[in-house]
Amino acid sequence: MSGIGMAAKLRLAGIESFRIYEKSDDIGGTWHANTYPGLTCDIPSRYYSYTFAPNPDWSRVYSPGREIWGYLDRVARDFGLLDRISLGAEVVEARWADGRWLLRTSGGEEAEYDFIITATGGLVHTVKPDIPGLDTFAGAAFHSAEWDHSVPLEGRRIAVIGTGSTGIQITRALAPVAGRFELYQRTPQWILPIGNRRYTRATRWAYRRFPALNRFGYRSLQLQVERTLGRATVRPGLARWWIGTLCRLHLRSVRDPELRRRFTPVYEPMCKRLVMGTRFYRQFSRPNVELVDAGIDHVEPGGIVTRDGRLHELDVIVLATGFDAHAYMKPLELVGPGGLRLSELWAGEPFGYRSVALPGFPNVFTLLGPHSPIGNQSIFTVSESQIDFALALIGVWRRREADAMWPTHEATERFNAELRAAAPTTIWATGCSSWYIGKDGVPHPWPWTPERHREMLERPLLHEWEFARALAPAA
Ligand code: NAP
Repeated sequence: MSGIGMAAKLRLAGIESFRIYEKSDDIGGTWHANTYPGLTCDIPSRYYSYTFAPNPDWSRVYSPGREIWGYLDRVARDFGLLDRISLGAEVVEARWADGRWLLRTSGGEEAEYDFIITATGGLVHTVKPDIPGLDTFAGAAFHSAEWDHSVPLEGRRIAVIGTGSTGIQITRALAPVAGRFELYQRTPQWILPIGNRRYTRATRWAYRRFPALNRFGYRSLQLQVERTLGRATVRPGLARWWIGTLCRLHLRSVRDPELRRRFTPVYEPMCKRLVMGTRFYRQFSRPNVELVDAGIDHVEPGGIVTRDGRLHELDVIVLATGFDAHAYMKPLELVGPGGLRLSELWAGEPFGYRSVALPGFPNVFTLLGPHSPIGNQSIFTVSESQIDFALALIGVWRRREADAMWPTHEATERFNAELRAAAPTTIWATGCSSWYIGKDGVPHPWPWTPERHREMLERPLLHEWEFARALAPAA
């Protein structure tokens, strides 16, 4: 998503010499990798799009994953990007040499560039649980981001392990069609009940006919999301109380008190990434659907054995067990001037300057880089601010005012100290485990409002940057 956005904006800025490297066999990133039944985006589509490529034709307020992929594909075609993309080309190393980056792919291809912009996404490396015997299972078992579409689902005995946004979307889609459906819950989730309205033909016509409506729709959804979730996640107050109350009222819709107790989290709403949507709880009134929270002991060829000794006979096991967000950008290694390695800089946790650049690495910009605002926000909007920031600094190079530029270590350290100081007021630090928390125990997402992110990236603070003429090569 951010790579296509960057390339489109390079073109709009009149820059034609660029190439996109994509490790996968198709474009679309997460919207290509994830194809599981029930996949939608829980950020409103009109806002989950580029401002420079509005789409009047969204079918729903929250559109299905395939439609979002189609949108990205169309933008790539409209901006003539397809022949600028090398598919199946994983960049494994970029080395600073003679004032430029020498980039190498896993296939051995090499090329030189003045700038590198990473657009590698945050939820890429799948986490597969270490359950004894999982590899002995006689049926089909796969991760939600590696869906095996050759496996029939209708009438089958299906287990889904995991109750994040993915597990809950899959439950809504498969519980009605499975012969038997079991959801394996380790930790209950809070769920914000947001319905998903379909746009009528008349509405879609109006959005096509009056482009200003799209702009208005984008801005008003942005305002709604930023004023509610954007505030609630980073500081206590009315928005936090209100969202928490809605989640608690939603949980009350579970009539059976014992089932409601089992669905009740012991942490604050939004501490884990908030799950959104309706129609989840009601699946558990179907006779073929069961919540399993006894804990998984092991897997046998016939199914899952829970800690109470019961064998759950199954045909399909879906691992909706999430991603390693801290393996950010791996396996790409950057080797900067003086031999500085990114893997060494990031020996603890990925960090950067204002979510968009790396100290000591010249001419590198990170889209959706470490500390980006990602908690229930539109990452299109976030990456657009980062793209504009990168373009502003690339402008310095184009005007031949400098050959190389990077944020200073002092400015990066100052930013990271402010970030750590702000982290305790965020909802993510209120006592739960989640992929937001780093190995250092600190939540890593942007701990301020999304508006502050835009403000911080609006104009590069040149005194926080070093600019140089041609630099020495890597050691
Ligand atoms: P996730 O939120 O990390 O959830 C993983 C789930 O798997 C958790 O319930 C976890 O339990 C469980 N789990 C992990 N290992 C387990 C084990 N060994 N045994 C039992 N349970 C285990 O992953 P996700 O649902 O794929 O979502 C990841 C992120 O993708 C989301 O937070 C969101 O940012 C994004 N996403 C967005 C959308 C959207 O509509 N925008 C949709 C899907 C995903 P614990 O909680 O106990 O660890």
